[in-house]
Amino acid sequence: MVDLKSMTLDEQGELLKGLGQPAFRARQVFSWLHRGAASFEEMSNLPKDLREQLARLCALSRPAVARKQVSREDGTIKYLWRLADGNCVETVLMRYRHGNTVCVSSQVGCLMGCAFCASTLGGKVRDLTAGEILDQVLFTQLDSGRPISNIVMMGIGEPLDNFDNVLRFLELVNCPEGLNIGMRHISLSTCGLVKKIDKLAEYGLQLTLSVSLHAPDDETRNALMPVNRGVGVDKLLETCRRYFEKTGRRISFEYAMIDSVNDADWQADLLARRLAGTGSHVNLIPLNHVEESPLKPSRRVREFQRRLEERGINVTVRRSLGGDIDASCGQLRRKAGASQGIGKEGEAT
Ligand code: SAH
Repeated sequence: MVDLKSMTLDEQGELLKGLGQPAFRARQVFSWLHRGAASFEEMSNLPKDLREQLARLCALSRPAVARKQVSREDGTIKYLWRLADGNCVETVLMRYRHGNTVCVSSQVGCLMGCAFCASTLGGKVRDLTAGEILDQVLFTQLDSGRPISNIVMMGIGEPLDNFDNVLRFLELVNCPEGLNIGMRHISLSTCGLVKKIDKLAEYGLQLTLSVSLHAPDDETRNALMPVNRGVGVDKLLETCRRYFEKTGRRISFEYAMIDSVNDADWQADLLARRLAGTGSHVNLIPLNHVEESPLKPSRRVREFQRRLEERGINVTVRRSLGGDIDASCGQLRRKAGASQGIGKEGEAT
């Protein structure tokens, strides 16, 4: 079956041309798909025989809401979507002053093994297709009735480990005939795959790249993030500098504050030295406690922030939304998997 949802407008045009259709059909089909049409039947401006032909040729499914939690504190909504093959992924919708932001997953599970992260506990099951990433945006918007203006790729998975599908998703969502979300309204977060960061730089996209740094020294970063082993913070930061030179876009660094692991004064000082003069932004994130992990949230966030600021670094402390609904990613999927068998089999729940 053809995965029509993952195809660009041009690719759909080629396919429809092959079916003997005029050029304007692709625009019609693309626009139906990007408004969340769940069947070809409802594409009322297409001839009936084309609708039937497409239904025979193409897979078109919509994710089902396996769970939905709405925060009473701030209106954050967290969805657990069940995909066509039974796997589940999470999407979070957050309300900010500048609009509605959706946080999407890029993979079912994750291979990266970060010590503090719930998404990686069962390993990676599979990559999501571009259409499945897009569906999270489309159906979150449809179900919630809130127009989405910003996208962050900070859900389950490592986006740069699913490079081609993620790039395709970005192209789809950016398309004027689709959701038309500007690159400057999109952030992509990576644990720091240096070769893939170099590869991404070649596209010169104007999105915001966030790098999950979490420690300024190799000993701590190696312990927290296996991806750092054999690479090191120096090489990562060099890659980030190259990225900035190529794209003109400053990278922001994520730093989850963990008690007695990465919150010491000397680590703030070293971080400030390493980022000095880059104009980079540091996002301090209070660690979300993950049941399976012995790591605890730091109580030194403000001191750490002050120390960085005194040394000329731009810092924000991320406001935590949806605290009452386990809104940090990976947790809902695991809980649902454990209690209802929703997670894919083979996952160590
Ligand atoms: N794989 C990508 C994106 C997904 S995680 C990445 O590593 O960046 C999105 C962000 O949440 C990352 O910065 C990640 O390090 C952070 N994160 C994961 N688990 C967390 C936890 N328990 N508390 C706080 N932040 C966490």
